[in-house]
Amino acid sequence: ATPTALMAASGRGAQLGVFIKGHQALESARAIDTVVLDKTGTLTTGEVTVVEVRLARNASREAVLRHAGAVENASEHAIARAIATLAREEIGEPPAAEDFRGLPGLGARGNVDGHEVLVGSARLLAESGIALPAELEATRVQWETAGRTTVAVACDGIVTGLFAVMDTLRPSAKRAVSQLHAMGLRTVLLTGDNEATARAVGAELGVQDVAAQVLPADKAAAIERLQADGRTVAMVGDGVNDAPALARADLGLAVVTGTDVALGAADLILVRTDLDVVPGAIKLSRATLRTIH
Ligand code: ADP
Ligand code: MG
Repeated sequence: ATPTALMAASGRGAQLGVFIKGHQALESARAIDTVVLDKTGTLTTGEVTVVEVRLARNASREAVLRHAGAVENASEHAIARAIATLAREEIGEPPAAEDFRGLPGLGARGNVDGHEVLVGSARLLAESGIALPAELEATRVQWETAGRTTVAVACDGIVTGLFAVMDTLRPSAKRAVSQLHAMGLRTVLLTGDNEATARAVGAELGVQDVAAQVLPADKAAAIERLQADGRTVAMVGDGVNDAPALARADLGLAVVTGTDVALGAADLILVRTDLDVVPGAIKLSRATLRTIH
């Protein structure tokens, strides 16, 4: 790339809210045929709210909120913040959880009032050998098919409650996806969320493929699999979790909501959370390459 063309592209990029780190990023953009979009914090705002709470038979709402609130209070996850906030509103400041452990992509655990409390996905519970009671299992399936994420709470190995949480889709997400399709690109939704929820959200946005239940540490490997299939991949993501995937992709686009780790891994930094900037950035890269070559 000539320095002049690169500078012109950088200037246009800055207007769009895109920073171009170097000509290497522009070179890879030409061949992009697949755009992988991270769900939480990218297609959604990452502002999670609890929309429903269901209790197991004989469980008390106060105990469920106390246990879940204590564990989630110690976790950084957006889901955790939503549950801790609800608990605080209803029952006041939760106690401190002892022996807290965050389980990336699954949930969290800790000791509350002398009880072993587990909070997280159905997958986490299954892996811990804990089954949902039939009525909560039916609720879980129903919620997830409707695009909600469910979070179960277990106390000493027995499920006591279920939360339905929801994240807000960015208003620009659907439009950005259809623009990417109009440009001849294939779209993939990538998430740690369960299959049913991911499919419902994917269908709502018109995203073509879904890669669900991908643990944070496996996101880069998911990109590699697409590349092994002959795809040239742009990854759009945010946050610490997405940094290895952004770095592994042929073109990494970071939606800036935060961290230096993600910024370092990305080729393109999107400082607006308006997702129109994604097709815009790829178009800009293509146009710049036409100028250069
Ligand atoms: P995403 O790919 O959407 O950013 P994560 O990989 O962070 O999602 O998490 C995947 C799933 O793990 C969540 O949808 C949720 O079911 C569960 N999970 C992760 N952390 C927590 C937590 N602190 N509390 C409850 N559930 C959690
Ligand atoms: Mg995420």
